[in-house]
Amino acid sequence: MSRNRPRLCVDMDEVMADAVAEHLRRYNLEFGERITVADLQGRWLWDVVEPSRHATLEDYLRSADFFAVLQVMPDAQRVLRALQDEYEVFIASAAMEVPSSFTAKYEWLARHFPFIPASNIVFCGDKSILKADFLIDDNPRQLRRFTGQGVLFHSHHNIACTEFPRVRNWLEVEAMFLRASRHSM
Ligand SMILES: [Mg+2]
Repeated sequence: MSRNRPRLCVDMDEVMADAVAEHLRRYNLEFGERITVADLQGRWLWDVVEPSRHATLEDYLRSADFFAVLQVMPDAQRVLRALQDEYEVFIASAAMEVPSSFTAKYEWLARHFPFIPASNIVFCGDKSILKADFLIDDNPRQLRRFTGQGVLFHSHHNIACTEFPRVRNWLEVEAMFLRASRHSM
């Protein structure tokens, strides 16, 4: 039965988990600055932080607790649970970008998304390896590599991207992927 359901892959950082908020919090705390997400429109954090501090930005990502403390994006838990009724849902994170993050990411998923089985979690590098019908991701580079239908999750750095259908939040994911079932209710 499950084989008949479309397969949906979902990215973690900036889609399920608010990584940029934690990144900004640590950076602002250490350097006494007040950079906000509003300052990052169309840019990555690396684009607004001077190069001499880039190593520090990398160190935040490598710290053992960074990925453990991230806030869950609003409505992500409820909508993902509902999506499981109609899709074969996989979590696909390019965790190889920060190999030391595996344990923290896995434990974060187990804590906040216990209804997603470990067998449906994929830590990868290049998402062209995914064989799925859909991928929801904030990174246009990964969506370009993906061979199914890409859906761009809105994020500060991708506001100029027009190549993919865009969802601004999880309510829009719900509307895009579960519209048919809602209408039949
Ligand atoms: Mg991401």
